[in-house]
Amino acid sequence: MKYCSTRGGVSGVSFLDSLLMGLASDGGLLLPESIPDVSHRLSDLSSLNFVELAQELIPLFVDDIESEQLHRVIAESYVDFEHADVVGTQTLGDITLLELFHGPTLAFKDVALQLVGRLFELALATRRTHLNILAATSGDTGSAAIAGVRGQGNIDVFILYPNNKVSRLQELQMTTVADENVHCIAIEGSFDDCQSLMKGIFSDLDFKSEMNLGAVNSVNWARVLAQITYYAYASLRTSGPANFCVPTGNFGNVFAGYLAREMGLPINQLIVATNENDILARFFNSGEYALNDVQFTLSPAMDIQVASNFERFLFYLFDKDSDKLREFMTDFQNHGHASLGAAWRGAQSYGFRATAVNTEQTLASVKQVYADFGYVLDPHTAVGIAAAQQMRDEVTGELVCIATAHPAKFPEAVQQALADVIPTHQSLEKLRGLPERKVVLPADAQAIKNHIRTHGHHA
Ligand SMILES: *Cc1c(COP(=O)(O)O)cnc(C)c1O
Repeated sequence: MKYCSTRGGVSGVSFLDSLLMGLASDGGLLLPESIPDVSHRLSDLSSLNFVELAQELIPLFVDDIESEQLHRVIAESYVDFEHADVVGTQTLGDITLLELFHGPTLAFKDVALQLVGRLFELALATRRTHLNILAATSGDTGSAAIAGVRGQGNIDVFILYPNNKVSRLQELQMTTVADENVHCIAIEGSFDDCQSLMKGIFSDLDFKSEMNLGAVNSVNWARVLAQITYYAYASLRTSGPANFCVPTGNFGNVFAGYLAREMGLPINQLIVATNENDILARFFNSGEYALNDVQFTLSPAMDIQVASNFERFLFYLFDKDSDKLREFMTDFQNHGHASLGAAWRGAQSYGFRATAVNTEQTLASVKQVYADFGYVLDPHTAVGIAAAQQMRDEVTGELVCIATAHPAKFPEAVQQALADVIPTHQSLEKLRGLPERKVVLPADAQAIKNHIRTHGHHA
């Protein structure tokens, strides 16, 4: 499989090159040149466990890792998950909950980043080079990326996160990691500031090659790829095509669901659930893509206005016409607003539904699920459940809600809904009181570049 950019300026890139490139050098995002079709193999695939399924699907997109080695790396990636089959399921009335938070940092991002970390290790060992990874995080990506690459001699990882705007436990999951290759940078600004600083630094191609910068944000194709497995896994275990409801921030998770459906897996509608940062919900209900100010909510991993993976979906929406896509993105960048106009056919015709959920509804859904089933939701998953309940009658067939984080990562939010419940997890309890390492920097690209030059390895 070769990869090309949504913006039309890069093509013929191998899988490992796409892994190391992150954002395409023309400013676009990398996508496979074609999407493999597995629709003729569904009954075989449905008998596989999670790891076996990953070992069948992921290699379809990889052209430059020897098959046995890739199978081994995939198997190793899921050893540290607490659940017997990597992901768990729960039945909550007429909704199935797909728990993706059994990895080392208790968020769904481990499913991808445990693999991506090992793929980096493999790529760098073969090429005998060193990589400085730069990532922006609203909380969960940072710790999951660190868990994926900590201690690796060929990698330094620099994590930008909004100072005082991630939960205390999320911060501790990053700053208490003692490995020397881990560098935590708290930025005086919002997550969107961190993300746009990161994009700006990656677009400085001289600096990118001087420091051999790599990306683990969901702009990195390999992350999206690794997430396809659980859509396949869940959809092959329901009777009839499944609908998925996905708590959405950067659109990476739900985009993997879109690809799984394009591959011929039995998936019906994809429901995009947002919090008050509802740019995507508004887009899917109107065809207008219009920026608002960021609002800080109980589900910080979704406090995002500009979703970096949305461009991947738009590329398919524009029938792979890079010129039209570029025009749309330029409009959006210049005016904070872009419209599909008469070309918009309505969300349903693209197989999507979308709705926004406010704080009150999020808390109500935590309360209700606890009262009805004795199950404690994290606030991100609660946004998804509230959206699923709103949409339940509009989709036919089973409805799978994605549980993106363990509630113990967000005890303050849970307690707002359930005064008597303090969700805990032993891996978080042990972090309290450990020594921390971080620097606080202004939202300034030059300051960050200087920090990377001083603390990273030069290529
Ligand atoms: C990252 C994250 C999300 C958002 O996922 P995207 O792929 O960015 O849409 C939702 N919930 C949690 C807990 C997360 O960590």
